[in-house]
Amino acid sequence: MYFNDSTIVFSNGEYVTAKDLMVSPYNQTMHYGNGAFEGIRSYNTPDGTRIFKAIEHYERLKYSCEKMYIPCDYSVKELEQITYKLLELNNLSDAYVRPIVFLEPNMSLTATKKSTLIIMAWEWGQYLGSEQLRVMTSSFERPNPKSCHVEAKITGHYTNSILATQEAKEKGFDEALLTDIRGNVAEGPGANFFYEKNGELFTCPKGNILPGITRQTVFEIAKELEIPVHEKWFGIDEVYTADTAFFCGTAAEVIGIKSLDDKVFPMKWEDSVSELIQRKYKLRVSTNEFREMLI
Ligand code: PMP
Repeated sequence: MYFNDSTIVFSNGEYVTAKDLMVSPYNQTMHYGNGAFEGIRSYNTPDGTRIFKAIEHYERLKYSCEKMYIPCDYSVKELEQITYKLLELNNLSDAYVRPIVFLEPNMSLTATKKSTLIIMAWEWGQYLGSEQLRVMTSSFERPNPKSCHVEAKITGHYTNSILATQEAKEKGFDEALLTDIRGNVAEGPGANFFYEKNGELFTCPKGNILPGITRQTVFEIAKELEIPVHEKWFGIDEVYTADTAFFCGTAAEVIGIKSLDDKVFPMKWEDSVSELIQRKYKLRVSTNEFREMLI
């Protein structure tokens, strides 16, 4: 699914076939979870293949590396160019791009001097599908921001996401919604959360979440559509009173939520401002509209 015999990946300065990649089992990332990664999408637009917000994603990758003492000497511009070349070599246009920076053999808990950057790409549909989701409140909380750099995209943080996702699936739900250590709503295992009430959107402030690039895009779109967005702390009970809700993330894009626990949201998705945001997001990424806006 992710690669075949002819798939090319970028690995430390070279484009090589994925099947021939060798990774040392002594690498510190595999043992202790200290690696940085990104999830990026490219789209087939009328102007050709365009990576959506490549700069923002690669800035975040470098930020994640810096916070975790992971060397990463590539500039954001270089990373963008490498990715375009990788997409071309694999003949990909609508694709998901996964860069990962992982560490050299080191079995101690000290910073490691050398890292390896691998960038992979494959075709990937919407991560959470295209149907409105049945979501459960997770019994797991997002990590305490005093225990890690929660705003960085670090491999080890995703054990928390796996636990929450697996719990939700085992209980017959599509996805989980996690609270923070104070019981406020935080985010999903791999996406940010918004709810809608009386035509306005609500989401939690930064602090206990991965502040998504899609979340930021939702703010931008909402501003253009004159839909008020409020960042505030709220609990699960407040979400129960919402008209509707959605998750957003690079892999998931914007995806509606049908219910939380046993509460079905009363508003039809087609009647919500959330659906307008979803449509506008699709349009923005697939028509390269965002580039024009930057000029
Ligand atoms: N929260 C978490 C925990 C995530 O893994 C992701 C996906 N990267 C997001 C939010 C959404 O981030 P983005 O919009 O930058 O993809």
